[in-house]
Amino acid sequence: MTTEKKRKKAFVIDASAIFNGILSHNLHGKKYLPQCVSYEIEGMHRGEALLEEITVKKDVIVTIPDKTAYAEVSIQANETGDIAELSECDMSVVALAYELKSKNNLVEIITDDYDIQNLANHMGIPYKGIYWKGITWVHDYTWVCTGCGFKSKKQMDTCFECGSTMKKKVHRKKKRS
Ligand SMILES: [Zn+2]
Repeated sequence: MTTEKKRKKAFVIDASAIFNGILSHNLHGKKYLPQCVSYEIEGMHRGEALLEEITVKKDVIVTIPDKTAYAEVSIQANETGDIAELSECDMSVVALAYELKSKNNLVEIITDDYDIQNLANHMGIPYKGIYWKGITWVHDYTWVCTGCGFKSKKQMDTCFECGSTMKKKVHRKKKRS
């Protein structure tokens, strides 16, 4: 048996996956739900069904990510700029996955929220969407003058306005596939 096989499968489910119809018995492994997600899905038709599964079968573990994991995710989200798009609960989803991964679980986030997918991707945490296939990246470049701020879409080494050095900037845009 390889070590890969010994590692436990762990799924972290978010509200978008539940909304789009994920059923916990379709996931073979341990299933986790951040507590905030359990609040988000209250009153939602599919959410109520899942909450019932949790109560009756004790099939899904409802928990809160630890503070260290949450703090690390906040730092990473700040780096990517995703923090503006992410709610505290979105970050809890990623934090819980990050925590489980650091405890040597084979983690997968089940989410159709592409801001969560983006952050997970950045942090090297596997994810799977049930509705969207995932995201792809589109790169967009701008050359910006370090002196006067002149911007160009074409490659330029020195600014023709003031002669200062031009710096290349990359903008990543998310695109649903
Ligand atoms: Zn310039």
